[in-house]
Amino acid sequence: MPKKIPLRQCLGCREMKPKKELIRVVRSPEGEISLDFKGKKPGRGAYLCPDPECLKRVRKSRALERAFSAQMPDGVYDALEAQMKEGGDG
Ligand SMILES: [Zn+2]
Repeated sequence: MPKKIPLRQCLGCREMKPKKELIRVVRSPEGEISLDFKGKKPGRGAYLCPDPECLKRVRKSRALERAFSAQMPDGVYDALEAQMKEGGDG
């Protein structure tokens, strides 16, 4: 029996992908948004491909605002983009 692979939907391209291939975006209990490459940070999570194009789509569609029911402070997307470039090796 093959193991069931947990799938999550990327907020950018809306494709279902294995959870471990996606980056978790987490909103901490304090309301801070950051990327969670290890999937261990506390808080509410959303998923995104490790692809700046998906980040752009999310930015445009405001999918993160909807996922977290919160305003994204100025600069959050730039910070996420920077984190994505730095931490992109998985
Ligand atoms: Zn995507």
